[in-house]
Amino acid sequence: MYSPSATRYDSPQFYRRCGRSGVQLPLISLGLWHNFGAKDSLDNARAIACRAFDLGITHFDLANNYGPPDGSAEETFGRILRDDLAQWRDELIISTKAGYYMWPGPYGEWGSRKYLLSSLDQSLRRMGLEYVDIFYSHRPDPDTPLEETMGALAQAVRSGKALYAGISNYQPAETASAAKILRELGTPCLIHQPRYSMLDRWIEPQLLATLEQEGIGSIVFSPLAKGLLTDRYFKGIPADSRAGHDTRFLRPADITEAVLAKTKKLNDFAQARGQSLAQMALAWVLRHKTVTSALIGASRVSQVDDCVGATRNLNFTGEELARIEKILA
Ligand code: NDP
Repeated sequence: MYSPSATRYDSPQFYRRCGRSGVQLPLISLGLWHNFGAKDSLDNARAIACRAFDLGITHFDLANNYGPPDGSAEETFGRILRDDLAQWRDELIISTKAGYYMWPGPYGEWGSRKYLLSSLDQSLRRMGLEYVDIFYSHRPDPDTPLEETMGALAQAVRSGKALYAGISNYQPAETASAAKILRELGTPCLIHQPRYSMLDRWIEPQLLATLEQEGIGSIVFSPLAKGLLTDRYFKGIPADSRAGHDTRFLRPADITEAVLAKTKKLNDFAQARGQSLAQMALAWVLRHKTVTSALIGASRVSQVDDCVGATRNLNFTGEELARIEKILA
């Protein structure tokens, strides 16, 4: 019988306010995109989720299509909730999303009201929940009026099936428009979920400023570039790594000499700071106050421990940041 650590909330500085809202999120959140599917070990998934909660990670991020197969990560998490975490439901922020392909026919992906609201009902059933804390539009839909997609998020909130609305992968101008519509509907946009890491900096020129202006928080996904910003690939491609066994989104061909040359230099620099490369990469995304949380994935408990250790040193001097820029250039 799982019983969470009594010290899990001992570090109030582990939480950051999400935009102009009442919600605080942990600096490190756990995503269930990989390692929580039907073929993955349930015991390992359970150990990762429970260790995360023990360390103060209150936020677990899902989507309808996480698995494989699609939907199975929600089923796994539903099982963990029932067996281990149900008693602490009020201490958890659980999110899910709809936007990518989920079922055949014209109503199984993108941004229609029909798809979003049916998908949310399915997600709730798979997880055995009455509500999620955050419901996201997973990607913008160029063919559906933004009013319809945002209207569906607002309805999810008004019906009590979600507490807050979020958007993911929206460009700056789309974000501003979505924020305006959601505000007018009385269900303000809580959060944006964009990709961001040392190796992918698209949010820096405009999106962060837009979020700041709109009072929207952000949770950045793949802050470790799916494992590239760690020491995982320094001695080849381990069979149990993402590039070694689940090449849907990270192929061996992505582990190039050029990337390794950079990440090895970053690793030396991280060591000099007394951190692992993963820890420095997480501290680096969190240097923006508009970034509320870094959304990691993990294939084992020790990775969660290491990632949370990032919060022991979140500071960079100007000189250190300049060194990192030089390596990344
Ligand atoms: P990361 O960039 O954090 O990559 C996670 C991987 O890095 C792990 O699976 C592991 O790889 C490796 N890793 C993690 N910690 C360490 C460590 N301390 N030392 C060494 N290696 C480590 O994030 P993900 O790409 O997994 O994405 C995180 C979450 O973001 C997802 O679960 C999902 O919730 C969300 N997401 C959202 C998207 C969207 O469109 N909104 C798209 C993609 C993700 P290994 O498995 O090889 O051990």
